[in-house]
Amino acid sequence: MNQSVTIAPISESLPEFLSATNYSKVVVIADSNTRKYCYPTLKDILPKHTVVTVPSGEANKTLSTCEKIWQAMTKEELDRHALVINIGGGVIGDMGGFCAAVYKRGIDFIQVPTTLLSQVDASVGGKLGIDFQGFKNHLGVFNIPKSVLIDPAFLGSLPEREIRSGFAEIIKHCLIADAAKWEEIRQRDFEAQKWPDLIAHSVQIKQRVVDEDPTEKGLRKILNFGHTLGHAVETCFLNKPANKRLYHGEAIAIGMIMESYLSFERKMITQDLLTEIEEFIFATYGKVKISAEDVEEIITLTKQDKKNRGKEVRFSLLKGAGQCAYDIVVTAPEMRKSIAYYLG
Ligand code: NAD
Repeated sequence: MNQSVTIAPISESLPEFLSATNYSKVVVIADSNTRKYCYPTLKDILPKHTVVTVPSGEANKTLSTCEKIWQAMTKEELDRHALVINIGGGVIGDMGGFCAAVYKRGIDFIQVPTTLLSQVDASVGGKLGIDFQGFKNHLGVFNIPKSVLIDPAFLGSLPEREIRSGFAEIIKHCLIADAAKWEEIRQRDFEAQKWPDLIAHSVQIKQRVVDEDPTEKGLRKILNFGHTLGHAVETCFLNKPANKRLYHGEAIAIGMIMESYLSFERKMITQDLLTEIEEFIFATYGKVKISAEDVEEIITLTKQDKKNRGKEVRFSLLKGAGQCAYDIVVTAPEMRKSIAYYLG
């Protein structure tokens, strides 16, 4: 796959990228927040360009927003030698990339991720797409951007809760692939973490995994640790009042405790490692209340997981710190037990 990722001030990486190719036109796709907080940094570096601004948030990662983006591209008479620059979090990266990958059978695009989550996870690996009829990332393609330009300085305007959410994917990368880094991060409080170093570390791990298995036939599934129950919890909480909703990483943190417990029950990790993981995650994210009704909904929702085959629900589980196994079938009673364990 060999995706090009640069971690540097955008004032250096973007001119360098642009100097290599003569694009016919440049279109920037932003959401209402990144237009305000991040686009001003690019504005004067870019040649003549158009900005398409869409409303922010997962609720807008839809076909109707894509239609507006495609309409703007068509109105600008973009040809196949044009460039799309997606500046934003995972929503803009996934959706803007999808729009570019489909427009006239595909034009060049680059990702400029501006949330911690998108810098350490969503911008790398070529998964693009949108939600459809309530199903997350239901329509999409694999297509790698021409480049990913990561500038940790964009995190300066990001609310703390968003940073904490993105941190969950960093924790996951350490747990599945680097025991020494797990030791390092768990010794520090959230406030004392060193983001530029952790971003580079996560990107390296994700790149290594997706290079080996770009289309998720095998190894790439390890990136789903914490995500089977985590996604189900996230979806279950989508229907709750706004003040009860969970950010993606907050739900994945819950999923990582539950799935670490499943790993322990299968004798794949020690009691000590399970205790380390839950202590660190509870200290960073606190505990979320899950009602008995929610428990059954969560278990039902795991049936929608993209890793499943037939009726079996398949998990990626830890087999020690820094190692992960995949395609492990877990039953509903086992899941129920792991949720009960989380709730204590
Ligand atoms: P997001 O894109 O919605 O961004 C979160 C919020 O932060 C938004 O309100 C956004 O406007 C705002 N924002 C972004 N950058 C900012 C900045 N620098 N300053 C101030 N505000 C800023 O959400 P996200 O957490 O970045 O990404 C979640 C999405 O990523 C989901 O749709 C998920 O499916 C997707 N995702 C994709 C992959 C993949 O491999 N493609 C992996 C993980 C997640």
